[in-house]
Amino acid sequence: MVFDYSALPREFKRRYLPQDITFVWDDISRIFEELNNRPLGSEADLERWLLDEAELDAYLYEQRAVRYFNSTRQTDNPDYAKAYEEYTELLEPKLKLASFKLLGKYVASPFRGRLPAQVYGLDGRRRQNAVSIFRKENVDLEKDDSALSQRYYRITGAMTVSFRGQERTLQQASKFYEVPDRAVREGAWRLSSERALADREALDTIYSEMVSLRDRTARNSGFDNYRDYIFVKKDRFDYSPADCEEFHKGVEEAMVPLSREIDRARAERMGLDVLKPWDLHVDPAGRGALRPFDEVPGLVSGARKLIAMLDTELSSYFERMADLQLLDLDSRKGKAPGGYQEELAEVRLPLIFMNAVGKDDDVRTLLHECGHSFHTFLMRKANLPYFNAGANLPSEFSEVASMSMEIITGEHYEGVFYDKVDAKRSNWKEAVDNVKLFTWVATIDAFQHWVYTHPAHTADERANAWVATFDRFCGLESYEGLESSRTYRWQRQLHLFEVPFYYIEYGIALTGALGVWSRYRKNPKDAIEAYKSALSLGCARPLPELFEAAGVEWDFGPGALNRIAGELRSAVREYAE
Ligand SMILES: [Zn+2]
Repeated sequence: MVFDYSALPREFKRRYLPQDITFVWDDISRIFEELNNRPLGSEADLERWLLDEAELDAYLYEQRAVRYFNSTRQTDNPDYAKAYEEYTELLEPKLKLASFKLLGKYVASPFRGRLPAQVYGLDGRRRQNAVSIFRKENVDLEKDDSALSQRYYRITGAMTVSFRGQERTLQQASKFYEVPDRAVREGAWRLSSERALADREALDTIYSEMVSLRDRTARNSGFDNYRDYIFVKKDRFDYSPADCEEFHKGVEEAMVPLSREIDRARAERMGLDVLKPWDLHVDPAGRGALRPFDEVPGLVSGARKLIAMLDTELSSYFERMADLQLLDLDSRKGKAPGGYQEELAEVRLPLIFMNAVGKDDDVRTLLHECGHSFHTFLMRKANLPYFNAGANLPSEFSEVASMSMEIITGEHYEGVFYDKVDAKRSNWKEAVDNVKLFTWVATIDAFQHWVYTHPAHTADERANAWVATFDRFCGLESYEGLESSRTYRWQRQLHLFEVPFYYIEYGIALTGALGVWSRYRKNPKDAIEAYKSALSLGCARPLPELFEAAGVEWDFGPGALNRIAGELRSAVREYAE
């Protein structure tokens, strides 16, 4: 499939940017200069200026997305790799600085308080926030931090094992955790674990340096610790570190017992006295992996049927993506691993990238990314300016859009991808995965709270804090004889290195997505209507209002988690039958 970007319909006309602008600094810097020098003498001037800047931002975001898409679709095409590298190395730093200058101009404007709050209020708060924590001396620290991330990637990217006659990445080796033969699972698990442990000291050093850099960054900006700094940096206006601690408590009280019940039932069904870490991903009844489809056309036609059962409008969006060839789904040589949805912000159309090979997870991934795409389409329909629809979209809500779609379409698997028995198997696995996701999010988040509020810790103290946190939320699997694997398990969670404090956002979004699912089971039509109206708000409204519009509670404390655990427990039992 050749991706023909130039053939995409341009339904939103430029008002400000020149038609013939090209993606080089000479051209772009002229636009920044004009925006920077333009006198702003009234609210109307400021409003026009913000909309013009949004047009520029959408253009820049789209150009980046196209280069990223191409480079991941064909990693073996050196032109694509070069184009993306040139962007990140040469252009991106200049764009950051130029955008920051505009931020300063905006904050200095006396008219900003007079713009309509429904459109500009929250965006204004975000801009103010960014300016308030900016310190020149942090720019270099952030650069050093990214360099450390690159080192982390180099080390973990080089981790391979030779298993069953083939060199495999740890990701590839993890597929063997699903095979019924226990010895094979154990072999793959042990090899991967030993390989990861071989680099434990290097990774420990990288992380210690990161923690120290981040602590300095926070102190430069006037904060006591990095945790408090990142809450401001991430525009978390609607929840605090204390709310996250309540989430940890709720998970401990409601989800951990459920997770252990699931493990107990698993051990019984598998006839094992003790579960080991390599026993957690296999079908407990000893059946082979689910096969929902053989080839990509089968995946597309199945997804098409599922979405058509939900709603005609969402269905039309899926058809549009298929018609415009915005779905790159098959796994091919030279294609990067993983899956994502990316927005082309100027034409306002979504792209989906993934590597489908016929697994149950592939169906979930496609529907997940479709949820993100529906977000893009609904914001497009609402004609939101870029600052209310683009890069500011909070994951606490954008993942509600995607996870809801992933979960509710499971209600209709029977007769589409599976027979009755396999549909239940798939939904059982999804429910179990969601319980385990809550416990893992709490583990990762609680650990980071400790790390950044104890910045002077030693590597040994950190290891102890990790084990205590791990034990607080873990399932029933035994690490006897595998203690080092448990002690250094955190090193394999790239979020800890690359995007600190991000992980909680999945946990919060999951409460919302399960709320949508719960509503959908009672009243599908109402649930979908609310889902669509919430998605069409983009990020112009605060998180509690987005959740409310979707018809779900903004509450991730112990009470809410207890109710959710109740529903998940019933689902796990229903699907296990
Ligand atoms: Zn997602």
